[in-house]
Parts: sequence; C-alpha cells; structure tokens
Amino acid sequence: MSMRVAEIQRFCTHDGPGLRTTVFFKGCPLRCVWCHNPETQKFASEVMFYDALCIGCGACVSACPTGAQVLTQNDRRRVVSLCEGCGACARVCLTEACKIVGTDMRAEQILAEVLTDAAFYGNTGGVTLSGGEPLCADGVIELLQLCKQHGLHVLVETAGACDPDTVSAAAPYVDEFYFDIKHTDAQKHKELTGADPTLILRNLAQIDRLGVKTRLRCLLVNGLTTDDAHFAHIAELYATLKHCTGVQLLRYHPMGGSKAAALGLADSGREEWIPTEAQITHAANLLLSRGVPVLTD
Ligand code: SF4
Ligand code: SF4
Ligand code: SF4
Repeated sequence: MSMRVAEIQRFCTHDGPGLRTTVFFKGCPLRCVWCHNPETQKFASEVMFYDALCIGCGACVSACPTGAQVLTQNDRRRVVSLCEGCGACARVCLTEACKIVGTDMRAEQILAEVLTDAAFYGNTGGVTLSGGEPLCADGVIELLQLCKQHGLHVLVETAGACDPDTVSAAAPYVDEFYFDIKHTDAQKHKELTGADPTLILRNLAQIDRLGVKTRLRCLLVNGLTTDDAHFAHIAELYATLKHCTGVQLLRYHPMGGSKAAALGLADSGREEWIPTEAQITHAANLLLSRGVPVLTD
C-alpha cells in the first residue's frame, strides 16, 4: 500500500526533540483559514507554480496534456480547473518553477529515507509524521510499526480529525503526539476549520486513555484565537488529561499565503493575524496562572 507524501524534510529541529526527519503527508480533512501548509490539504497530487522562477521556455506547455499551462507574449498562467496533477510539466521544467507536490511511496520506501539519517538522531531525535493529517494516510499504521521495529523515536503531529480506530491502532507505536487545538469554542472551531471539534476531542481523550504522552499545540492568530476564554478552556482541557506534558504556543506566520498563491489560490496570508509579543506573554501567563506548563521548545 502506498501513501502520498508531500515532502520529507531532514535535519528538522522544530518538530520534536533532537534532530529529526519529518514526513509531511498529503491530505487533511480540515480547512483552517490560517493554514501554513495549504499544499498538504488536498489528498490528490497537485502542481505549484512559482512565477519568479519561470524563464518562459514553454516546455511545460508542450508537455501538458490538458492545456492547463498557458504561455503567450502577454499571459503566463496555469488554469487550475484544467490541471489533473499528472506532473508532466514539473518533469520538464528545468528551473523548478513548476513543482509537483505528492509522491506515492510505500512504507518501506519512507522508512529507508528516514533511516538515511539515523546516525544523527542520537538519544533524543527520530522521525516525525506530519501533514496534512498523517493519521488519514493509508498505510500509516504499517509505517509506524516499521519505525518502531527499527528503534526510532516516533512523534506524530496531528489535528485529531481522523478515524478513532486509526488513533487506537497508532497509539502503541507512538512515543508522543503533538496535538493541535484549533479553538475551544465549538462554533468558532467550525467557522475557522470547517469542522466540528467533537471527534477531535474524543480522539484526544482516547490517546490519553491509552497512556500516550501528548503536548497540546495552540496557534495564536491575532483576533481569531487570542481571546482569554479560549485559554481558560485550554487550561480546563489540560486538567482532564493524565499524560499531557503541557501547552506549546505557536505564533501565526503568513508564509502559507504565498504557498496558496503558488497553488493558484488566493494568497491567504494576513500580516494583521501575526500576534504581538504581549499577546503571547499574556496567553502564557493565563495558562501558567492556572497551573498549565507552557512548553517553549
Ligand atoms: S490541520 Fe494543518 S494542514 Fe490541515 S488545514 Fe489545518 S493547518 Fe492546514
Ligand atoms: S517549463 Fe518551467 S520555466 Fe519553462 S515556461 Fe514552464 S514553468 Fe516556465
Ligand atoms: S500537472 Fe497539470 S498543468 Fe502540469 S502537465 Fe499535468 S495537467 Fe498540465
């Protein structure tokens, strides 16, 4: 069984302890308005186009079987509705202005890539599965089993919007889950991600019942996820969990917007969503005052 991988990043220092290899899977059921990885939302492969790298050679136009690539004296664009994600344009583009996102790989192939850097993991590093939503990737359990068989420290970054049976099957092979809490108000959660949080919270509780360590990760998006009530509810949520090590506050960054533009979507990045230092400190103090450890790395 193969899984669709958006990217494998090596020598990562922000996706868990130590040096890690992070596997980003394609496909996510959520649609967060601030999404920092919009190229991982769709389950299908797709092409990103970087205008600044294009030298206008026209190779992609000849290669495209659907007429989605357009290049005239006055016009350079990709008609997203005609694109079938075959990747032919990316294969002939010498400047990487066209880049395919989504490579089908079997669990053994992913493991082989991950093991390339095993010598650098030491006692703390390992592999991180991310996305998109890694727990929605077909074959993820097989990959987790293989990673554990090879003695790797395994971390899964999840937003929890997945089949509860997958959570239960994954848990024995995961050392820690980094679990995103998008918003604690159900209505706002739905508005901001397109999904009801009930299943997500049930999955978080299930991980905790199974005794696996979690850290809650909260993205601060100015005006959307910075209200005091949200952090009070996070503290309440933390108090229900026996195996949660604390809360990590993350700062919104608008770089996902340019990636959306490369996908042919509207640039979704918003400078005004970047939280201030004062907002981050305020949120941290609210959590600390309620006995919640605030994790900084
Ligand atoms: S869960 Fe992550 S990948 Fe999915 S839409 Fe939200 S930010 Fe994007
Ligand atoms: S093949 Fe690449 S460089 Fe050439 S026109 Fe297409 S996108 Fe531009
Ligand atoms: S990926 Fe899309 S734009 Fe590129 S060749 Fe295939 S159909 Fe054409």
